[in-house]
Amino acid sequence: MAGTGKNEEVLKESFMTKRSQNKRAFTHPNWKERWFVLSPENLIYYDGDKQSGRRKERGRVKLSEVVAVECVDTEVFHRDWVFQLCYSSEENEQIVLYIAAATSQERDQWLDHLRRLVAQNPCLSDHYHNGCIKGNQWTCCKGGKEVAACTRVTWTNNNPVGQPTPSPTPDARSEMMPGTPGGRFKPPERQRKVVVALYDYNAIDPGDIPLRKHEEFEVIEDTQEYWWKMKNLQTGVEGFAPSNYVREKETIGLHQYDWYLGDATRQRAEVFLMQQEREGCFVVRNSTTNSGIYTLSLFSKRSHPQVKHYHIKKDSEGNYYLSHNIKCQTIPDLIFRHQHNPAGLPVRLRPPTHGRHAPTIPGPHPDKWEIDPNELNLLEELGSGQFGVVRHGKLRNLDVAVKMMKEGTMSENDFIEEAQVMTKLRHPNLVQLYGVCSMYRPIYIVTEYLKNGSLLNYLRSKDKVLINNNEVLLDMCLQVCEGMAYLERQKFIHRDLAARNCLVGAHGEIKVGDFGLARHVVDDEYTGSGGAKFPIKWAAPEVLNFMRFSSKSDVWAYGVLMWEVFSCGKMPYGKAKNTEVVEMVVQKGCVLDKPRFCPDNVYNVMRRCWDRTPEMRPAFNDIIRIFQDE
Ligand code: AMP
Repeated sequence: MAGTGKNEEVLKESFMTKRSQNKRAFTHPNWKERWFVLSPENLIYYDGDKQSGRRKERGRVKLSEVVAVECVDTEVFHRDWVFQLCYSSEENEQIVLYIAAATSQERDQWLDHLRRLVAQNPCLSDHYHNGCIKGNQWTCCKGGKEVAACTRVTWTNNNPVGQPTPSPTPDARSEMMPGTPGGRFKPPERQRKVVVALYDYNAIDPGDIPLRKHEEFEVIEDTQEYWWKMKNLQTGVEGFAPSNYVREKETIGLHQYDWYLGDATRQRAEVFLMQQEREGCFVVRNSTTNSGIYTLSLFSKRSHPQVKHYHIKKDSEGNYYLSHNIKCQTIPDLIFRHQHNPAGLPVRLRPPTHGRHAPTIPGPHPDKWEIDPNELNLLEELGSGQFGVVRHGKLRNLDVAVKMMKEGTMSENDFIEEAQVMTKLRHPNLVQLYGVCSMYRPIYIVTEYLKNGSLLNYLRSKDKVLINNNEVLLDMCLQVCEGMAYLERQKFIHRDLAARNCLVGAHGEIKVGDFGLARHVVDDEYTGSGGAKFPIKWAAPEVLNFMRFSSKSDVWAYGVLMWEVFSCGKMPYGKAKNTEVVEMVVQKGCVLDKPRFCPDNVYNVMRRCWDRTPEMRPAFNDIIRIFQDE
């Protein structure tokens, strides 16, 4: 890694995303991943060239010039975990650096570290802007560029806001221990974190507490990423609850409303509203094309059932409006007015009856991946696959799927070890592995339960509705791609990606399953590329030739999965035998033809996934970008 400069200690470092500072008035601000390094004197950021190991410094902020370190209202950028560093430039101009961390914990750690280091700055301010400048105006107070900061800071070296800041003893900087890779930073005192429940949660474990939507909790312990210990502020009851079911009160914004779907795509919003089927039912979501803009999606049965999308506009005074007759200062006010008066919309707005669906519970608490079979109540059979029978079940009161591994199909010890790693993989588009029962035989693999079964069967059973419904099909591909991009970032290779190994949830959400299992199969028919069960039709040429698996061979399989989706579950290469497919793919360099209703630009993405040179295939992240630009 590049050094921070002569003799500079590294106190903390990580990748985060930084908003461009828009020094030129006409450039559109964008967000770029940078490698941030904190030294006792500076915050330095480098471009994120991970491959070469060489990094170029892109900028630095002198900590002595920092006037405030604060969070930013989430709605401003439609991004989570954004914080800001306000500082004065050499020309004495106030500049704000906006940085998005990957998790709330990471953001809190950076806030704590930075605040410690700037604690003695005489220039610390007692006000800041909790928005940003858009069109020469602050989004928070609507004041012009030069207007005084409008919001009282939440932090001034642990002193009551507005009081002079005494010198901390011992000196905050001297409390830092050398922070080069092995060095540690003494943990600063916690700040009070109050969160609001976004969903109901029924306690699963004896140490859990239930959550009811809108209740407030103080976070007592957040050292584990997904299970926080919280105290109900009304009842005083303490216990664990999933961290993805709550949101910090400070940044809750529109998330408190059931009609707000955040970053949901247009297709997600359509599926959600079509399922509710109520005249006037609506959601608000972040526009996919313009950051900082909101879209209202509205269901109406007039003429025929359809969803229409409207941009919520803003006038020069910062008022929101859908039609010129009704203008309001906030989006909730605007929604409220349109619930009583259509004023230009086809119908009056009616909020959804079933709100956003709750996210996946992140599985039993960490280190409890070995599940006691007595806690499992086995229910109906869901199907059977490569590894044996799969049954629906209840783990205490949680719906689960239980895969009963046929004896002799797996190298069990290796798999059990890997299961510990796999329980830590968490993404909304991956089937959550909850744990294993490995004390008895057969081994059970316990995962999240998805009501609509395998993607392949779903595509086949709904082909009449889905065929030519390209927006929905593309959204399915995008969801799989997001799960795979996460696996790629975790350096985890799937090895058996195909529509049959993805599952569909109750609300049409698609999740990738069976990741990593292929590696532990001992059946020769499955593991050798000549074996009858080997997924030849999804295999890249380098897999067929040399059994060389990589994220790029997953990308090849992903191209075939896209083909399955756009042909609504047809068998790739039709009835061709495996040997014929090998000959076509390896020797003749053939690829699958374009499915009948598939748009050219989508087929082009498949073709890129089937490049013969693995390095030339796009990464999953690149594919997401291509889809979003479509
Ligand atoms: P597999 O062994 O993964 O191929 O699963 C066989 C069948 O069981 C699938 O085709 C699904 O219909 C069903 N199944 C597997 N896992 C789940 C799950 N997590 N939720 C619901 N159904 C599942």
